[in-house]
Amino acid sequence: MNRDIIKELSDFLIESPGCYHAVAALKRRLDAAGFAELSEAERWSLEPGKGYYVTRGGSSIISFRLPEEKPKGFHIIASHSDSPSFKLKPDPAMWSEGLLRLNVEGYGGMIRSTWFDRPLSIAGRVLTDEGDALRERLVYFDRDLVMIPSLAIHLDRERSDAKPSIQGELLPLLGATDKDAWTRLLTEAAGVDAEHILGMDLFLTCRMAPAVWGADREFFSAPRLDDLACCYASFAGFLDASPAEHAALHCVFNNEEVGSRSMQGAESTFLAMTARRICRALGMDGEAFDAAVADSFLVSADNAHALHPNYAGKYDPVNRPHMNKGLVLKHQAGQKYTTDAVSEALFKKLCKACGVPYQEYANHSDVPGGSTLGNISNTQLSVRAVDIGLAQLAMHSAYETMGCADAGHLARFAEAFYGGELARLE
Ligand code: ZN
Repeated sequence: MNRDIIKELSDFLIESPGCYHAVAALKRRLDAAGFAELSEAERWSLEPGKGYYVTRGGSSIISFRLPEEKPKGFHIIASHSDSPSFKLKPDPAMWSEGLLRLNVEGYGGMIRSTWFDRPLSIAGRVLTDEGDALRERLVYFDRDLVMIPSLAIHLDRERSDAKPSIQGELLPLLGATDKDAWTRLLTEAAGVDAEHILGMDLFLTCRMAPAVWGADREFFSAPRLDDLACCYASFAGFLDASPAEHAALHCVFNNEEVGSRSMQGAESTFLAMTARRICRALGMDGEAFDAAVADSFLVSADNAHALHPNYAGKYDPVNRPHMNKGLVLKHQAGQKYTTDAVSEALFKKLCKACGVPYQEYANHSDVPGGSTLGNISNTQLSVRAVDIGLAQLAMHSAYETMGCADAGHLARFAEAFYGGELARLE
Protein backbone atom coordinates (compact mmCIF):
# COMPACT_ATOMS: atom_id res chain seq x y z
CA MET A 1 0.00 0.00 0.00
CA ASN A 2 1.34 3.39 -0.96
CA ARG A 3 -1.52 5.82 -0.46
CA ASP A 4 -2.12 9.32 0.84
CA ILE A 5 -5.03 7.91 2.77
CA ILE A 6 -6.15 11.18 4.39
CA LYS A 7 -6.27 12.90 0.99
CA GLU A 8 -8.23 9.95 -0.42
CA LEU A 9 -10.59 9.92 2.57
CA SER A 10 -11.09 13.65 2.20
CA ASP A 11 -12.03 13.26 -1.48
CA PHE A 12 -14.36 10.38 -0.62
CA LEU A 13 -16.14 12.41 2.08
CA ILE A 14 -16.66 15.33 -0.30
CA GLU A 15 -18.10 12.92 -2.90
CA SER A 16 -20.34 11.37 -0.24
CA PRO A 17 -22.79 13.94 1.15
CA GLY A 18 -25.04 11.03 2.18
CA CYS A 19 -25.41 7.26 2.04
CA TYR A 20 -26.65 7.08 -1.59
CA HIS A 21 -23.71 9.13 -2.83
CA ALA A 22 -21.28 7.13 -0.67
CA VAL A 23 -22.40 3.93 -2.39
CA ALA A 24 -22.11 5.63 -5.80
CA ALA A 25 -18.58 6.81 -4.90
CA LEU A 26 -17.59 3.24 -3.95
CA LYS A 27 -19.10 1.92 -7.19
CA ARG A 28 -17.00 4.33 -9.26
CA ARG A 29 -13.84 3.04 -7.57
CA LEU A 30 -14.91 -0.60 -7.96
CA ASP A 31 -15.65 -0.10 -11.65
CA ALA A 32 -12.22 1.46 -12.12
CA ALA A 33 -10.63 -1.51 -10.34
CA GLY A 34 -12.37 -4.01 -12.66
CA PHE A 35 -15.10 -5.31 -10.32
CA ALA A 36 -18.31 -6.42 -12.04
CA GLU A 37 -21.75 -5.31 -10.81
CA LEU A 38 -24.32 -7.98 -9.93
CA SER A 39 -28.06 -7.54 -9.56
CA GLU A 40 -29.86 -9.28 -6.71
CA ALA A 41 -32.78 -9.81 -9.08
CA GLU A 42 -30.81 -11.87 -11.60
CA ARG A 43 -29.10 -15.25 -11.55
CA TRP A 44 -25.41 -14.99 -10.64
CA SER A 45 -22.66 -16.70 -12.54
CA LEU A 46 -19.33 -16.11 -10.86
CA GLU A 47 -15.77 -16.88 -11.86
CA PRO A 48 -13.14 -17.84 -9.30
CA GLY A 49 -10.47 -15.19 -8.78
CA LYS A 50 -12.75 -12.33 -9.88
CA GLY A 51 -14.22 -9.34 -8.03
CA TYR A 52 -17.90 -8.36 -7.89
CA TYR A 53 -20.23 -6.01 -6.06
CA VAL A 54 -23.95 -5.88 -5.34
CA THR A 55 -26.06 -3.09 -3.86
CA ARG A 56 -29.36 -3.09 -2.00
CA GLY A 57 -31.70 -0.14 -1.61
CA GLY A 58 -29.16 2.10 -3.32
CA SER A 59 -27.52 2.69 0.04
CA SER A 60 -25.86 -0.59 1.11
CA ILE A 61 -23.14 -2.34 -0.87
CA ILE A 62 -21.23 -5.62 -0.59
CA SER A 63 -18.05 -5.93 -2.66
CA PHE A 64 -16.25 -9.23 -2.79
CA ARG A 65 -13.19 -10.90 -4.25
CA LEU A 66 -13.24 -14.66 -4.85
CA PRO A 67 -10.34 -17.04 -4.30
CA GLU A 68 -9.02 -19.19 -7.16
CA GLU A 69 -10.43 -22.28 -5.40
CA LYS A 70 -13.76 -22.68 -3.62
CA PRO A 71 -13.68 -20.30 -0.61
CA LYS A 72 -12.75 -21.80 2.75
CA GLY A 73 -14.92 -19.16 4.36
CA PHE A 74 -15.63 -15.43 4.39
CA HIS A 75 -13.41 -12.68 5.72
CA ILE A 76 -15.71 -9.74 6.23
CA ILE A 77 -15.27 -6.12 7.29
CA ALA A 78 -18.55 -4.26 7.86
CA SER A 79 -19.10 -0.53 8.33
CA HIS A 80 -22.05 1.81 7.76
CA SER A 81 -22.90 4.36 5.10
CA ASP A 82 -25.34 6.55 7.03
CA SER A 83 -24.75 9.38 9.49
CA PRO A 84 -27.14 11.24 11.78
CA SER A 85 -28.94 13.99 9.90
CA PHE A 86 -32.36 15.47 9.19
CA LYS A 87 -34.71 14.04 6.61
CA LEU A 88 -37.03 16.22 4.55
CA LYS A 89 -40.68 15.44 5.20
CA PRO A 90 -43.17 15.14 2.33
CA ASP A 91 -44.16 18.51 0.83
CA PRO A 92 -41.49 20.22 2.94
CA ALA A 93 -41.75 23.87 1.82
CA MET A 94 -43.11 26.14 4.60
CA TRP A 95 -43.57 29.83 3.73
CA SER A 96 -44.26 32.19 6.66
CA GLU A 97 -43.25 35.71 7.69
CA GLY A 98 -41.83 36.23 4.22
CA LEU A 99 -39.34 33.39 4.68
CA LEU A 100 -39.14 29.91 3.22
CA ARG A 101 -38.18 27.02 5.50
CA LEU A 102 -38.10 23.27 4.95
CA ASN A 103 -39.90 20.82 7.23
CA VAL A 104 -37.59 18.08 8.52
CA GLU A 105 -37.45 15.30 11.09
CA GLY A 106 -34.45 13.77 12.82
CA TYR A 107 -32.57 10.77 11.44
CA GLY A 108 -30.46 9.13 14.16
CA GLY A 109 -29.06 10.67 17.32
CA MET A 110 -27.22 13.79 16.24
CA ILE A 111 -25.76 16.45 18.55
CA ARG A 112 -28.47 18.91 17.55
CA SER A 113 -26.70 22.12 18.50
CA THR A 114 -23.85 21.41 16.06
CA TRP A 115 -26.19 21.86 13.10
CA PHE A 116 -26.75 25.57 13.78
CA ASP A 117 -24.99 28.34 11.86
CA ARG A 118 -23.05 26.40 9.28
CA PRO A 119 -23.48 25.96 5.55
CA LEU A 120 -25.71 23.00 4.71
CA SER A 121 -27.16 21.49 1.61
CA ILE A 122 -29.48 18.63 0.64
CA ALA A 123 -28.57 15.23 -0.78
CA GLY A 124 -30.29 11.92 -1.45
CA ARG A 125 -32.42 10.41 -4.18
CA VAL A 126 -35.69 11.02 -5.95
CA LEU A 127 -37.85 8.59 -7.91
CA THR A 128 -39.20 10.00 -11.12
CA ASP A 129 -41.95 8.75 -13.38
CA GLU A 130 -40.51 8.79 -16.89
CA GLY A 131 -43.33 7.37 -18.99
CA ASP A 132 -42.62 3.68 -19.24
CA ALA A 133 -40.34 3.43 -16.21
CA LEU A 134 -39.61 4.71 -12.75
CA ARG A 135 -36.11 6.09 -12.55
CA GLU A 136 -33.96 6.65 -9.47
CA ARG A 137 -31.89 9.82 -9.63
CA LEU A 138 -29.27 10.94 -7.16
CA VAL A 139 -29.75 14.54 -6.10
CA TYR A 140 -27.14 16.76 -4.52
CA PHE A 141 -27.23 20.52 -4.54
CA ASP A 142 -23.48 21.05 -4.62
CA ARG A 143 -23.55 24.54 -3.10
CA ASP A 144 -24.32 26.21 0.20
CA LEU A 145 -28.12 26.05 0.04
CA VAL A 146 -29.70 26.13 3.49
CA MET A 147 -28.76 27.16 7.02
CA ILE A 148 -30.24 26.69 10.51
CA PRO A 149 -29.58 30.07 12.15
CA SER A 150 -29.52 30.08 15.94
CA LEU A 151 -31.46 32.53 18.09
CA ALA A 152 -29.47 35.59 19.21
CA ILE A 153 -28.35 35.32 22.83
CA HIS A 154 -30.01 38.70 23.56
CA LEU A 155 -33.45 37.24 22.88
CA ASP A 156 -33.15 34.32 25.28
CA ARG A 157 -30.39 34.70 27.85
CA GLU A 158 -31.64 31.83 30.01
CA ARG A 159 -31.83 29.21 27.32
CA SER A 160 -30.32 25.78 27.46
CA ASP A 161 -28.68 24.59 24.24
CA ALA A 162 -28.73 20.98 25.36
CA LYS A 163 -31.51 19.68 23.14
CA PRO A 164 -33.24 22.19 20.89
CA SER A 165 -36.57 21.07 19.42
CA ILE A 166 -36.29 19.78 15.87
CA GLN A 167 -39.79 20.85 14.89
CA GLY A 168 -39.56 24.19 16.67
CA GLU A 169 -35.95 25.29 16.29
CA LEU A 170 -34.08 23.24 13.71
CA LEU A 171 -36.02 23.80 10.49
CA PRO A 172 -33.54 25.05 7.88
CA LEU A 173 -33.99 28.38 6.13
CA LEU A 174 -33.99 28.13 2.33
CA GLY A 175 -35.00 31.53 0.96
CA ALA A 176 -36.68 34.92 1.30
CA THR A 177 -37.92 35.82 -2.16
CA ASP A 178 -39.70 32.97 -3.87
CA LYS A 179 -42.45 30.90 -2.20
CA ASP A 180 -41.97 28.21 -4.83
CA ALA A 181 -38.19 28.05 -4.68
CA TRP A 182 -38.11 24.51 -3.32
CA THR A 183 -40.24 23.10 -6.14
CA ARG A 184 -38.17 24.99 -8.70
CA LEU A 185 -34.86 23.74 -7.29
CA LEU A 186 -36.03 20.16 -6.94
CA THR A 187 -37.47 19.93 -10.44
CA GLU A 188 -34.27 21.41 -11.89
CA ALA A 189 -32.21 18.84 -9.99
CA ALA A 190 -34.50 15.94 -10.91
CA GLY A 191 -34.78 16.99 -14.55
CA VAL A 192 -38.55 16.39 -14.67
CA ASP A 193 -41.71 18.35 -13.85
CA ALA A 194 -42.92 18.36 -10.26
CA GLU A 195 -45.82 15.99 -10.97
CA HIS A 196 -43.34 13.36 -12.19
CA ILE A 197 -41.44 13.28 -8.91
CA LEU A 198 -43.11 10.40 -7.08
CA GLY A 199 -40.78 9.70 -4.17
CA MET A 200 -37.84 11.16 -2.31
CA ASP A 201 -35.28 10.28 0.35
CA LEU A 202 -33.55 13.63 0.90
CA PHE A 203 -31.43 14.66 3.87
CA LEU A 204 -29.61 17.74 5.11
CA THR A 205 -25.86 17.45 4.72
CA CYS A 206 -23.05 19.45 6.27
CA ARG A 207 -20.96 21.31 3.71
CA MET A 208 -17.93 22.14 5.84
CA ALA A 209 -14.73 21.13 4.09
CA PRO A 210 -12.49 18.51 5.71
CA ALA A 211 -9.49 19.98 7.55
CA VAL A 212 -6.10 18.71 8.72
CA TRP A 213 -5.04 20.73 11.77
CA GLY A 214 -3.11 20.78 15.04
CA ALA A 215 0.45 21.72 16.07
CA ASP A 216 1.90 18.92 13.96
CA ARG A 217 -1.12 18.49 11.69
CA GLU A 218 -2.10 15.40 13.66
CA PHE A 219 -5.89 15.85 13.59
CA PHE A 220 -8.41 15.43 10.80
CA SER A 221 -11.91 16.88 11.00
CA ALA A 222 -14.81 16.44 8.60
CA PRO A 223 -18.52 15.67 8.49
CA ARG A 224 -19.60 11.98 8.51
CA LEU A 225 -16.35 10.46 9.84
CA ASP A 226 -18.66 8.05 11.69
CA ASP A 227 -18.62 5.82 9.80
CA LEU A 228 -17.29 6.78 6.38
CA ALA A 229 -13.74 6.86 7.77
CA CYS A 230 -13.93 3.13 8.62
CA CYS A 231 -15.78 2.50 5.37
CA TYR A 232 -13.10 4.12 3.22
CA ALA A 233 -10.00 2.97 5.13
CA SER A 234 -11.15 -0.66 5.12
CA PHE A 235 -12.08 -0.32 1.44
CA ALA A 236 -8.58 0.90 0.56
CA GLY A 237 -7.14 -2.20 2.27
CA PHE A 238 -9.70 -4.39 0.48
CA LEU A 239 -8.60 -3.03 -2.91
CA ASP A 240 -4.91 -3.46 -2.09
CA ALA A 241 -5.15 -6.99 -0.66
CA SER A 242 -3.74 -9.95 -2.54
CA PRO A 243 -5.99 -12.95 -3.30
CA ALA A 244 -6.44 -15.44 -0.46
CA GLU A 245 -8.16 -18.74 0.32
CA HIS A 246 -11.15 -17.04 1.93
CA ALA A 247 -13.57 -14.85 0.00
CA ALA A 248 -12.94 -11.19 0.90
CA LEU A 249 -16.22 -9.33 1.61
CA HIS A 250 -16.39 -5.58 2.15
CA CYS A 251 -19.85 -4.64 3.48
CA VAL A 252 -21.27 -1.17 3.95
CA PHE A 253 -24.76 -1.06 5.45
CA ASN A 254 -27.26 1.77 5.63
CA ASN A 255 -29.49 2.50 8.62
CA GLU A 256 -27.04 1.74 11.44
CA GLU A 257 -27.93 5.08 13.01
CA VAL A 258 -31.59 4.07 13.33
CA GLY A 259 -31.08 0.49 14.54
CA SER A 260 -30.19 -1.44 11.34
CA ARG A 261 -33.71 -2.88 10.95
CA SER A 262 -34.46 -2.25 7.31
CA MET A 263 -34.38 -4.01 3.97
CA GLN A 264 -30.71 -3.06 3.54
CA GLY A 265 -29.49 -2.69 7.14
CA ALA A 266 -27.13 -4.96 9.08
CA GLU A 267 -30.15 -6.87 10.42
CA SER A 268 -31.40 -7.59 6.91
CA THR A 269 -30.78 -10.72 4.85
CA PHE A 270 -28.33 -8.87 2.58
CA LEU A 271 -25.06 -10.34 3.87
CA ALA A 272 -26.36 -13.85 4.55
CA MET A 273 -28.02 -14.08 1.14
CA THR A 274 -24.94 -12.75 -0.62
CA ALA A 275 -22.71 -15.31 1.12
CA ARG A 276 -25.12 -18.13 0.27
CA ARG A 277 -25.41 -17.06 -3.35
CA ILE A 278 -21.63 -16.86 -3.72
CA CYS A 279 -21.33 -20.48 -2.58
CA ARG A 280 -24.22 -21.66 -4.74
CA ALA A 281 -22.82 -19.95 -7.84
CA LEU A 282 -19.49 -21.68 -7.23
CA GLY A 283 -21.17 -25.08 -7.08
CA MET A 284 -20.95 -25.54 -3.31
CA ASP A 285 -23.84 -27.36 -1.59
CA GLY A 286 -25.56 -26.44 1.68
CA GLU A 287 -23.13 -28.53 3.70
CA ALA A 288 -20.16 -26.75 2.12
CA PHE A 289 -21.81 -23.37 2.79
CA ASP A 290 -22.35 -24.15 6.48
CA ALA A 291 -18.74 -25.28 6.80
CA ALA A 292 -17.54 -22.08 5.11
CA VAL A 293 -19.58 -19.96 7.53
CA ALA A 294 -17.99 -21.80 10.45
CA ASP A 295 -14.57 -20.84 9.08
CA SER A 296 -15.46 -17.15 8.71
CA PHE A 297 -14.60 -13.98 10.59
CA LEU A 298 -16.32 -10.59 10.79
CA VAL A 299 -14.64 -7.32 11.70
CA SER A 300 -17.32 -4.81 12.63
CA ALA A 301 -15.63 -1.45 12.02
CA ASP A 302 -17.41 1.55 13.51
CA ASN A 303 -15.80 4.55 15.10
CA ALA A 304 -14.94 4.60 18.80
CA HIS A 305 -14.76 7.32 21.44
CA ALA A 306 -11.29 8.81 21.89
CA LEU A 307 -10.48 10.29 25.28
CA HIS A 308 -11.72 13.89 25.45
CA PRO A 309 -9.39 15.74 27.85
CA ASN A 310 -12.17 18.12 28.95
CA TYR A 311 -14.43 15.26 30.01
CA ALA A 312 -12.02 12.56 31.17
CA GLY A 313 -14.40 11.53 33.98
CA LYS A 314 -16.90 10.20 31.46
CA TYR A 315 -14.55 7.40 30.42
CA ASP A 316 -13.42 4.09 31.84
CA PRO A 317 -10.49 4.74 34.19
CA VAL A 318 -8.18 2.40 32.26
CA ASN A 319 -9.43 1.56 28.78
CA ARG A 320 -9.50 5.04 27.22
CA PRO A 321 -8.17 5.20 23.66
CA HIS A 322 -6.33 8.13 22.13
CA MET A 323 -6.38 9.42 18.58
CA ASN A 324 -3.41 8.37 16.44
CA LYS A 325 -2.57 5.50 18.79
CA GLY A 326 -4.01 2.68 16.75
CA LEU A 327 -7.15 0.65 16.14
CA VAL A 328 -9.61 0.52 19.00
CA LEU A 329 -10.75 -2.92 20.16
CA LYS A 330 -14.18 -2.58 21.81
CA HIS A 331 -15.38 -4.68 24.75
CA GLN A 332 -18.81 -4.85 26.36
CA ALA A 333 -19.97 -7.59 28.70
CA GLY A 334 -23.54 -7.50 27.35
CA GLN A 335 -22.26 -8.29 23.84
CA LYS A 336 -23.29 -5.01 22.27
CA TYR A 337 -19.77 -5.44 20.97
CA THR A 338 -19.08 -8.91 19.63
CA THR A 339 -15.50 -9.10 20.91
CA ASP A 340 -14.80 -12.19 23.03
CA ALA A 341 -11.58 -13.83 24.17
CA VAL A 342 -11.20 -15.80 20.93
CA SER A 343 -11.81 -12.95 18.50
CA GLU A 344 -9.78 -10.61 20.72
CA ALA A 345 -6.80 -12.95 20.59
CA LEU A 346 -7.03 -13.36 16.81
CA PHE A 347 -7.34 -9.60 16.31
CA LYS A 348 -4.30 -8.88 18.47
CA LYS A 349 -2.25 -11.53 16.75
CA LEU A 350 -3.12 -10.11 13.36
CA CYS A 351 -2.31 -6.54 14.46
CA LYS A 352 1.08 -7.66 15.72
CA ALA A 353 1.77 -9.58 12.53
CA CYS A 354 1.06 -6.57 10.31
CA GLY A 355 2.61 -3.97 12.62
CA VAL A 356 -0.61 -2.08 13.39
CA PRO A 357 -0.95 -0.64 16.91
CA TYR A 358 -4.15 -1.27 18.85
CA GLN A 359 -5.72 -0.06 22.08
CA GLU A 360 -8.69 -1.20 24.12
CA TYR A 361 -12.00 0.45 24.87
CA ALA A 362 -14.62 -0.31 27.48
CA ASN A 363 -17.49 1.94 28.57
CA HIS A 364 -17.49 3.68 31.94
CA SER A 365 -19.41 1.08 33.96
CA ASP A 366 -22.25 3.53 34.70
CA VAL A 367 -22.59 4.82 31.11
CA PRO A 368 -24.46 2.51 28.72
CA GLY A 369 -22.52 3.55 25.57
CA GLY A 370 -23.64 3.13 21.99
CA SER A 371 -24.39 0.17 19.77
CA THR A 372 -23.07 -0.85 16.37
CA LEU A 373 -23.40 -3.45 13.62
CA GLY A 374 -21.48 -6.58 14.60
CA ASN A 375 -23.92 -8.20 17.00
CA ILE A 376 -26.87 -7.25 14.78
CA SER A 377 -25.27 -8.72 11.66
CA ASN A 378 -24.47 -11.86 13.65
CA THR A 379 -28.18 -12.58 14.11
CA GLN A 380 -28.36 -13.18 10.33
CA LEU A 381 -24.95 -14.71 9.56
CA SER A 382 -23.41 -15.97 12.80
CA VAL A 383 -19.63 -15.97 12.66
CA ARG A 384 -16.71 -15.23 14.93
CA ALA A 385 -16.54 -11.46 15.22
CA VAL A 386 -14.70 -8.55 16.73
CA ASP A 387 -15.75 -4.93 17.15
CA ILE A 388 -13.19 -2.28 16.35
CA GLY A 389 -13.13 1.38 15.32
CA LEU A 390 -11.07 4.49 14.80
CA ALA A 391 -10.73 6.71 17.86
CA GLN A 392 -12.64 9.95 17.33
CA LEU A 393 -13.99 12.96 19.21
CA ALA A 394 -17.40 14.61 18.86
CA MET A 395 -19.17 11.52 17.58
CA HIS A 396 -22.51 12.49 15.96
CA SER A 397 -21.55 16.14 15.71
CA ALA A 398 -22.08 17.66 12.26
CA TYR A 399 -18.27 17.98 12.17
CA GLU A 400 -16.20 15.24 13.82
CA THR A 401 -12.51 14.80 14.65
CA MET A 402 -10.08 11.87 14.40
CA GLY A 403 -6.34 11.27 14.23
CA CYS A 404 -4.58 11.44 10.85
CA ALA A 405 -2.55 8.28 11.48
CA ASP A 406 -5.46 5.98 12.25
CA ALA A 407 -7.03 5.71 8.78
CA GLY A 408 -3.73 4.26 7.57
CA HIS A 409 -3.75 1.80 10.49
CA LEU A 410 -7.12 0.44 9.42
CA ALA A 411 -6.14 0.29 5.73
CA ARG A 412 -3.01 -1.71 6.59
CA PHE A 413 -4.96 -4.02 8.91
CA ALA A 414 -7.63 -4.62 6.24
CA GLU A 415 -5.03 -5.38 3.58
CA ALA A 416 -3.45 -8.04 5.82
CA PHE A 417 -6.81 -9.46 6.97
CA TYR A 418 -8.21 -9.82 3.45
CA GLY A 419 -4.85 -11.00 2.12
CA GLY A 420 -5.03 -14.19 4.18
CA GLU A 421 -2.88 -13.20 7.17
CA LEU A 422 -5.58 -14.26 9.66
CA ALA A 423 -5.83 -17.73 8.13
CA ARG A 424 -2.04 -18.12 8.40
CA LEU A 425 -2.11 -17.20 12.10
CA GLU A 426 -4.95 -19.44 13.23
ZN1 ZN B 1 -21.13 4.54 13.67
